[in-house]
Amino acid sequence: MIIVGSGPAGLTAAIYTARARLAPLVIEGEPSSTSDQPGGQLMLTTDVENYPGFPDGVMGPELMDNFRAQAQRFGATTLTRKVAKVDLSATPRQIWIDDATKPEPDFTATAVIIATGAQSLMLGLPNETELIGHGLSTCATCDGFFFRDQEIGVVGGGDSALEEAIFLTRFASKVNVLVRRDELRASKIMQDRARANDKIHFVWNTVVTEYLGDSKLSGVATKDTVTNTAGTMELAGLFIAIGHKPSTQLFVDQLEIKPNGYLVTQPDSTRTAIDGVFACGDVVDDYYRQAITAAGSGCMAAIDAERWLEEHHSG
Ligand code: NDP
Repeated sequence: MIIVGSGPAGLTAAIYTARARLAPLVIEGEPSSTSDQPGGQLMLTTDVENYPGFPDGVMGPELMDNFRAQAQRFGATTLTRKVAKVDLSATPRQIWIDDATKPEPDFTATAVIIATGAQSLMLGLPNETELIGHGLSTCATCDGFFFRDQEIGVVGGGDSALEEAIFLTRFASKVNVLVRRDELRASKIMQDRARANDKIHFVWNTVVTEYLGDSKLSGVATKDTVTNTAGTMELAGLFIAIGHKPSTQLFVDQLEIKPNGYLVTQPDSTRTAIDGVFACGDVVDDYYRQAITAAGSGCMAAIDAERWLEEHHSG
């Protein structure tokens, strides 16, 4: 049993499969400033207040350390390396670590659980990683609560940006939506809802050029995309909502991928079209994208995998 990915989905699958005595190997990814650091997106957050069981909240990295320790306690092995290539058509399934050009795979597995997650697209500006969780966020559901009665910004003009902006009006005194063109990409119905909301203010033809504030965001430097005029805005918080990118590059041409980039699983299941290959968490979820839903789907993948192994490989 090999699990690829070590966010809430992968490590929950590890806890369940370890407790089912399947001795899972979790290939975690490697530390980096982007999505493939071990532990997934929660490693880039600070306070997590919506994960059930923690009435006083918990720090994202601490929560993931706990997931990992729990999986290891039941016999899961974790490997802090990157998968370079998979061959899911071979039996058993083949996995290469670090270098895709090696003639032989490093591991083979009867069952594989894919939990490679997704990353929020970011602006790529200096100090971005450091400011996440310190005024900069990619999740209104998670962090909106921290900005009660304050003026904040949302970057983007799609459905995600407007959904986040509308949600954030429950907390913030004013939500500036920074749109790089003079029109929105969002659906008409979301546009109507956002335009009807008094707390939402559109800032057209505007891109963020710099995050202001060292250890905590205090505002942004901006540029008008038509006139090139530079400006600044004081903001207590900024939400980046310019889309997500699921981590599916390893599976292109092997598994079915939706036009929006997410892996396809069978309805109400984590089974993929390949026998013994399961997918869970944000790499399949283009809708909920929460740690708790990822963890739930990791549990589903573990149970699906256990039952599949029992049916096909008992004894
Ligand atoms: P989209 O790709 O639809 O929109 C991305 C937005 O971000 C666009 O307005 C784009 O501008 C802007 N953008 C991209 N890069 C930058 C940048 N570097 N700086 C500033 N702005 C930038 O992504 P979404 O996540 O909004 O939506 C993805 C899909 O999910 C869509 O199909 C959407 O309909 C769906 N969805 C539906 C929801 C609902 O129905 N309630 C909620 C959320 C998502 P530009 O237009 O200029 O390219």
